[in-house]
Parts: sequence; C-alpha cells; structure tokens
Amino acid sequence: MVMQCQKCGKAYEPKRRGGKFCSTSCRVVQHQLVKRGRLYVNPNTGDEVYLANKLATIERTAQQTLVAVQDLPAEQALVELRKLVQGWAGVAQNSVIERILRHDRKERETNYEAYRARTGLY
Ligand SMILES: [Zn+2]
Repeated sequence: MVMQCQKCGKAYEPKRRGGKFCSTSCRVVQHQLVKRGRLYVNPNTGDEVYLANKLATIERTAQQTLVAVQDLPAEQALVELRKLVQGWAGVAQNSVIERILRHDRKERETNYEAYRARTGLY
C-alpha cells in the first residue's frame, strides 16, 4: 500500500504499520519542528477543511430553516423542509466524498484479501 509522507508529501511504501514518513530524516525534521512549536502535529488536509465547511453549512441552513418554519402553517412548513432536505440530497455526490469512500472501500478489500491469503478463510 502506498502512503504519502506527512513531511515532504512524497508517495512511498511504508516499512512498518502506522509509519507516517518516507525516511528517517523526514521523521526527525518533522518532530523537531513540532517540538519548537513551528508546526501543528496534525494539520487539517484540504479535504478535511472542505468537509468541515460543508457540515457547518448544513448545520446553519438547518437552524435557519427551523426558525423560518416555526410559525408557518404545517403545509407551508413542509414545503420549506422539503426544499432544505432536497438541497442536502446530493451532498455525498461530490469528488471529495467519493474519493474518500472509494479509498475506504479499496482499503477494506485489500485488508480482506490479505486476511484470506494469510488464513485461507473466507
Ligand atoms: Zn518524506
């Protein structure tokens, strides 16, 4: 399985489980920067920031809609709530989420194949 070095970003084949860096020098430099307070230990990736913003938007629109519908007659409230939910319906169909789900599926398949190869069990 190919990983991305958390220091230099290079793709590499980890030698041990849970390894985060392509080389000893990347690991050491990273730890020195973290120790000196020059770096966050786990900076957010672009994907994480994107998803956090998306969820925050969903939360905000939900709150706004709940306030907007509270004094409406039931039928009108339903129309507004339907609009809100339809706005969310396509949320999983974006490239970031699809990439994460595809990666997760692939990882599980790989783990399962490794398990089968090791044990002969299905
Ligand atoms: Zn590296």
